[in-house]
Amino acid sequence: MTQLGLNIADTFNKELPDDKDRNNTRRQVLEACYSFVEPIQTSNATLIAHSAEVAEILGISEGDLQSNLFTKVFSGNEVLEGTAPFAMCYGGHQFGHWAGQLGDGRAINLTEVLHENKRWALQLKGAGPTPYSRSADGLAVLRSSIREFLLSEAMHHLGVPTTRALSLSLTGDQVLRDMMYDGNGAYEKGAVVCRVAESFIRFGNFEIFASRNDKVNLTKLMDYTIKYFYPHIGKPSKESYLQFFQEVCDRTMNMIIHWQRVGFVHGVMNTDNFSILGLTIDYGPYGWLEGYDHGWTPNTTDRSHKRYRYGYQMNISLWNLAQLANALFLVIDDAKSLEGILMKYRSDIQEAYFSMMRSKLGLSLEEDGDESLVIELEELLQKSETDMTIFFRLLSEVSKEQSLPIEGDKKFLSVIEKAFYKPEEITESILESWRIWWMKYLMRLKKETIDDAKRKTSMNLVNPKYVLRNYMAQLAIDDANQGDYTLINSLLEVLRNPYDEKPEHEKWFVKRPEWARNKIGCSMLSCSS
Ligand code: AMP
Ligand code: MG
Repeated sequence: MTQLGLNIADTFNKELPDDKDRNNTRRQVLEACYSFVEPIQTSNATLIAHSAEVAEILGISEGDLQSNLFTKVFSGNEVLEGTAPFAMCYGGHQFGHWAGQLGDGRAINLTEVLHENKRWALQLKGAGPTPYSRSADGLAVLRSSIREFLLSEAMHHLGVPTTRALSLSLTGDQVLRDMMYDGNGAYEKGAVVCRVAESFIRFGNFEIFASRNDKVNLTKLMDYTIKYFYPHIGKPSKESYLQFFQEVCDRTMNMIIHWQRVGFVHGVMNTDNFSILGLTIDYGPYGWLEGYDHGWTPNTTDRSHKRYRYGYQMNISLWNLAQLANALFLVIDDAKSLEGILMKYRSDIQEAYFSMMRSKLGLSLEEDGDESLVIELEELLQKSETDMTIFFRLLSEVSKEQSLPIEGDKKFLSVIEKAFYKPEEITESILESWRIWWMKYLMRLKKETIDDAKRKTSMNLVNPKYVLRNYMAQLAIDDANQGDYTLINSLLEVLRNPYDEKPEHEKWFVKRPEWARNKIGCSMLSCSS
């Protein structure tokens, strides 16, 4: 009998070493990739949102989506026959320091399924404690679950590699959280998200074995990962392991360049939050650039050092890859080759970044001077608060036939003026800098062989019109806390087509409202979730 139309095909918990201790007690778990553990029962599970597209890729029918069994399984209240849920063991570098064993403290992997030749792992977040919960409760609250559910889907539609989300359920239980870590704890609604990805293996899964000098299990995990997720690499050998590392670098770079393109700030780029498949994973105190600012991070926990700020995400990806290389070194034993790959990453990511920025500017050819055009623009965008999404989207309206602006002229800026938060802050000197940049940009556009219309089309494929602005998620959260879930579903719909002009969604193509400027949940988020 198939359950919910799912074709169960577990491998991780069948082929890799398990923790022999079956008690759900918090501990160090040695020589094992995971511990078997079941989700906890909740008092009153209700499904409040789901992604029909994710259900489809898993082979779940509309009828099954509406069933009681669906609600029970994806809130953790029923375990599918023939499956053996588990929590993964991993470690991680947090904020630059080795943190030891972390693991799935509140994520429980339900099963893997095969549908249309694709393998998917299904994981609940917030379904109760595991051996890796340390001092925490294994639960998640509604606000952070809404943020994870919505953005997983939004990122996919933006073309950013990401884990997906199948469902969002309320547990019916209350969860105590001290949101700003200031002693003001309060009860919030508990929730569970079912996440979906080819795999949830992280850099930290490899690091934990290396940290314990456990070469045997590190090799097993590397072989397993290559067999299922990098199968073209072939049989284990030093060369294939090096190629594996190279491909993880390629995928990571691709993900980070997409983050920079859309203005996404992850907020907690610890190595336990870096997927071995180059997927954006663990949506916590993330945020979207509204005012373009290389120094911005939404994460209040990182307020003092701003290690994970927007303008530093590329550097951090290299740092994280170096930690992964350190771990794989135990098996590969070839520092020179690993270093070579990292050195190349450092220069390649710069190149990839400029190439991506050229596409945002609508420059199809590569010309000398393009890099300085980008660098000068980055500086300008930060001189007065300028909305990143609106700026790049409106820039596609520029015509290369437009006459070059003369000194004192302000009219040329009218096409993008909606992007400025404080037009009164555009002083004479900022205006003059804009004019000089504008002239260079127009002259550069004239070298393009494609016409305005074609350039606009191509720019609008890389510069989204709709992103999940921090305040939008907060509006959905405020409504949901009052029992109204309609905005979650409306936003899911808006974010399904982020590059298309949709008059009915135009109200979301606006700058962050002033009330959200310094509001907790909008511009400031903590790791408490
Ligand atoms: P994060 O910063 O959310 O990536 O979490 C870092 C580590 O803390 C991971 O091992 C999580 O599983 C764990 N963790 C975070 N929140 C909780 C929680 N409420 N209960 C148990 N473990 C948690
Ligand atoms: Mg995490």
